[in-house]
Amino acid sequence: MVPLFDPHPQHARVRTEVVQAVNEVLDSGQFIMGPNVQNFEDEAAVYHGVKHAIGVASGTDALLLALLAAGVGEGDEVITSPFTFIATLEAIYQCGATAVFADIDPATMNLDPDATASVVTERTRAVLPVHLFGQAADMKPFLELGQKHNLRVIGDCAQAFGARYHGTSVGALGDAGCFSFFPTKNLGGYGDGGLITTDSDELADAVRVLRNHGSRTRYYHDVVGYNSRLDEVQAAALRIKLRHLEEFNESRRAVAAIYDQELSKLGIRTPKILDGCHHVYGQYTILLSERDRLRDALQQRDIGSAIYYPVPLHRQSVCRDTFQELSFPVCEQVAEECLSLPMFPGMTEAQAREVVAAVAEVL
Ligand SMILES: *Cc1c(COP(=O)(O)O)cnc(C)c1O
Repeated sequence: MVPLFDPHPQHARVRTEVVQAVNEVLDSGQFIMGPNVQNFEDEAAVYHGVKHAIGVASGTDALLLALLAAGVGEGDEVITSPFTFIATLEAIYQCGATAVFADIDPATMNLDPDATASVVTERTRAVLPVHLFGQAADMKPFLELGQKHNLRVIGDCAQAFGARYHGTSVGALGDAGCFSFFPTKNLGGYGDGGLITTDSDELADAVRVLRNHGSRTRYYHDVVGYNSRLDEVQAAALRIKLRHLEEFNESRRAVAAIYDQELSKLGIRTPKILDGCHHVYGQYTILLSERDRLRDALQQRDIGSAIYYPVPLHRQSVCRDTFQELSFPVCEQVAEECLSLPMFPGMTEAQAREVVAAVAEVL
């Protein structure tokens, strides 16, 4: 038996420190916007090599507030990938903009820069590449496209805390990076949380106002804002987990190395790493035509797996009327062939080999 995700090994690693830090928060009596949020933001900014890191209530809110702070709204088009979690699309809708999809690269499953360039219009205001499964999207062409057409480039980094692109954190690329602390992510909290990273003083200030009821000074409100703050308890725990993040990501990468080596022998398409990309395996996702058969057989053997994502966004019932004329063939094919295998910090070599043996037996 190997679960798709097991939170216990990483928790065991930090438990003593986290319990103490949470106790200190409880004793302090300050639960919103206290020293842990401030310190975590400072430490996260250093980690990503950016001027500002701003805690918010979730990764979804990070995307929404970053778009709003960048001035994206009604009448604007935002180009993104149809092969991502629904939150990427929700944020575009919620800020009032129109979502425009471009197809993905079949090897990396990330937004294709050429396809993106081909759908830029006069109304395009932003590009929102997703660093899917823990690998940076190929950002250089997106940044060039942004310069050429005066577009904002905002990264959905929810699955990629620790991922680097030619040595730079994904959080330091473009106008802003948006992270999630959902418990299964690379940096997982004990509940919901999110973060926006940016070098722009203006964007950072706008996010800080938006997350706190549109207010700079308490009870004085400049704009209609949100209640979207990171809690002190989460921030206290995240400060500790951030110190262990490299170790957690290395643990994921060690499992990926075993999968890479053994699964490629079976004719499976393993994750393709782009030149200069440091992949942190938020998910380890393979591609194979016999996906459904493998998934069923793994289930029978008590090996966890998941399909991220079974339905491309342009085919979701929430918006399929809008996109019914459109087809993104690469994305549609990948959605039928993708399977994510067990991956979590502290997963043992024996567990990785058990997964590999089960896959080999089935195929
Ligand atoms: C998890 C995730 C989000 C949303 O994060 P939450 O913290 O759950 O709101 C956004 N985009 C992608 C690609 C994600 O995987």
